[in-house]
Amino acid sequence: MCRRAIASAGRRADLCMSRKGSAFYSCDPPWLGHCGGITFRVDLPVATRRSDPPAARREAALRAIAELPHPDVTIWSDGSARGRTEQGGAGALIQFHHLNREETVRAPAGAVCSSLRAELTAMREAFAAVAGLEDGELASTNGCQPPGHVGLDGNETADRLAGEATAGDQDSAPIDLSSARAAVTRHVRELSRQRATAAHPHPDPTPGHDSLARWGSVTLSQLRTGTSLLTRDTLHKIGLAADDECPACGEPDSAAHLLTDCPAYEAARRRRWGVDPRLVDVLGGPATKFVTFIEDVGRTEPPLDPPAPPPP
Ligand SMILES: [Zn+2]
Repeated sequence: MCRRAIASAGRRADLCMSRKGSAFYSCDPPWLGHCGGITFRVDLPVATRRSDPPAARREAALRAIAELPHPDVTIWSDGSARGRTEQGGAGALIQFHHLNREETVRAPAGAVCSSLRAELTAMREAFAAVAGLEDGELASTNGCQPPGHVGLDGNETADRLAGEATAGDQDSAPIDLSSARAAVTRHVRELSRQRATAAHPHPDPTPGHDSLARWGSVTLSQLRTGTSLLTRDTLHKIGLAADDECPACGEPDSAAHLLTDCPAYEAARRRRWGVDPRLVDVLGGPATKFVTFIEDVGRTEPPLDPPAPPPP
């Protein structure tokens, strides 16, 4: 909450409007129509870091706000997106100090939406709400009034409004191309992660895996997922072997067969893990044992079909 408060110190836009300067333009940012009547402040009088205590950061934000010119209108805006990527919501609290009035804005920012997009949607909706006021309302005061509400409560209200807007009808909010592209990449990555986990015989990391040389590390990773060029079932599946028979015993080959079942490798296996180790024992033991076992049984290369006999 306090992080938002600090961030919003720079996002609070104070608008000082005069009788002449209340027009908004559709192409340019609204402040360009006000010839310097709008103050943006993105720095803080006291430098703060995210690791600073919340009280210190709040203090810095309050000082920055106190140094701004007294506005007619204060906008507190905030955007939120679930997991920073989905169900965007935008909220703003608009305080018309000269009218002694507040308005709230809530808007969905898109089913697929970045946090930045949600923040920008909040600012756009707030500006649109101010622009939609009647001229008479904006010009009902001369000069600037002191803000009746200086503090960060507005920030918390904007945060709450943005959260409420995430549950809004997202179909009405457009999705931009970069957000859509990021969403597709994310879903593909998640799918392949799920697939790898589903095929994974042993999800816990093997101790010492990270300190193996590259060959051992890759081999271990592949055998853990059950798909390795060192076993005939994989070679057969991708058309590099005529069958899936184990080169040592002729039974169907697989990662589990190589590591725990193949009778031809029993002695080498027993020397490392005892009698009849389970896959969980082989993969849960030190990674160096695993590598020396593969070397010991001579399975460091893909067991390809023997070359065809030379023609008679
Ligand atoms: Zn075998």
